[in-house]
Amino acid sequence: MNKFVVGIDIGGTRTKIGLVDLKIGKVLDLKIVPTETVDDRLFLKYIVKTVANLKLIVAETKAEIVGIGFGIPGFVFENGVVDSTYGFLEFMEDYPLKDIIQNTIGLPCLLDNDARCIALGEALYGAGKNSKRILVLTLGTGLGFGFVTNGKFETTLPYAHMGGHISIGHTTFKCYCGKQGCLESLVSATGIIASAKRLGWETKFPDLPLKVETIFEAEQQGNTIAVQIVSDFIAQLKTGIHNYINLFAPDIIVIGGGVSKGMKPYLERLSVDDFLKPYKNYHVNIVLSELDEHSGILGAAALFNS
Ligand SMILES: [Zn+2]
Repeated sequence: MNKFVVGIDIGGTRTKIGLVDLKIGKVLDLKIVPTETVDDRLFLKYIVKTVANLKLIVAETKAEIVGIGFGIPGFVFENGVVDSTYGFLEFMEDYPLKDIIQNTIGLPCLLDNDARCIALGEALYGAGKNSKRILVLTLGTGLGFGFVTNGKFETTLPYAHMGGHISIGHTTFKCYCGKQGCLESLVSATGIIASAKRLGWETKFPDLPLKVETIFEAEQQGNTIAVQIVSDFIAQLKTGIHNYINLFAPDIIVIGGGVSKGMKPYLERLSVDDFLKPYKNYHVNIVLSELDEHSGILGAAALFNS
């Protein structure tokens, strides 16, 4: 009998629920809804309803669902208690999600940090599947950090989930975490848009929407402000990558998230040949995610692999 897992990727704005076949690493059915951040009853109601629908779909194929895996922003303890989402999901502070799901739905539940789940998805089913040391950077609203070795997390608990907040130099503006010069505050979509605002984008180009996609398009057409924004973005991201290489020596760095969708023209400029390597003949591939929306769902489901 085929066994499937439900993978749930809770993002700051959208929650993605997928039916996953772990054997082939594919999302067979996908639902996307706005993330419920305040009311736990509404959150739970939607999860219960969606899983019930998936159970019906699976029953028709004579397969079964064996568990539910969650990727959640913030710190998650091994016992399945969400310690803190740092204000992203109000109701989920100190929330015993694992017990609540198991008691309500009657299926085993596992959970981990969202960026770690994305990294696990990339390591097992995406660009990292032929590599041993996989670092995944998710450039979206923030900068998600996940590191996987030989198909597993290097630490049990997500201690490094704040890895986007490595500081790459003092700036005049503060990151929301309280420090200055955090990589996340510079190279995330939020950071790129803040950088455009500082350069007067809205006044200079009132007809061009203030979006990362628009900035990258304008750069390709030679818009000088956009060229400056992208040049800063590449330099900052490259410095961050150098730091991560010094700490983790990854074989591959996979860049995902909304920002990565427009990064193809800039990938070559991120190459890291010009500094002392962690060991002789060290080489790292820097690539863009090809799993797109599915990596977090696959990774959340793959928590049931180990
Ligand atoms: Zn920070």
